[in-house]
Amino acid sequence: MRSILKVHWDSNLPIYEISQSVLQKKGIHCLLIDVDGTLVNRNSTKIPKDVQNWIIDSKKLFSLYLISNNPSKKRISKIANELKLKYKYNASKPRKKVTLSAINEVGCESKNIAIIGDRIFTDIIVGNRCNIKTILVKRLKRNGLPIKFNLTLTIEKLISLFIK
Ligand SMILES: [Mg+2]
Repeated sequence: MRSILKVHWDSNLPIYEISQSVLQKKGIHCLLIDVDGTLVNRNSTKIPKDVQNWIIDSKKLFSLYLISNNPSKKRISKIANELKLKYKYNASKPRKKVTLSAINEVGCESKNIAIIGDRIFTDIIVGNRCNIKTILVKRLKRNGLPIKFNLTLTIEKLISLFIK
């Protein structure tokens, strides 16, 4: 796979099953976190309890920053305020500009920052373009559980094979 599409850690897990101690072992101090599909189902603003608890635990160990392509400030600010996290909306991932400004704000070295998201063509590419670590997680359904078959991701992985 071409380096811009390379996933540092293709976890095959929902975000709330990502182990904080594994992140620490990888030298990660800051996490940029995608919102739609990663923290909440994209058609809902209800934050699953498991996600809330994972954020509470992670906040004790890492600097967290939400970074969403969603153009709705209302939606993303509601979720960010509930979790008491800083956020960027309308981030235009895989374009670098907004993600780079979040990276500057968190004030960690690039090697200690990871982006977590559910898509290769936005989250993973922008992470690679900004020279930070990349973690792919499973997309969440409305009930907060991970989807079994992610068509978008399957297509992205197939395309990745052909453009390597
Ligand atoms: Mg997403």
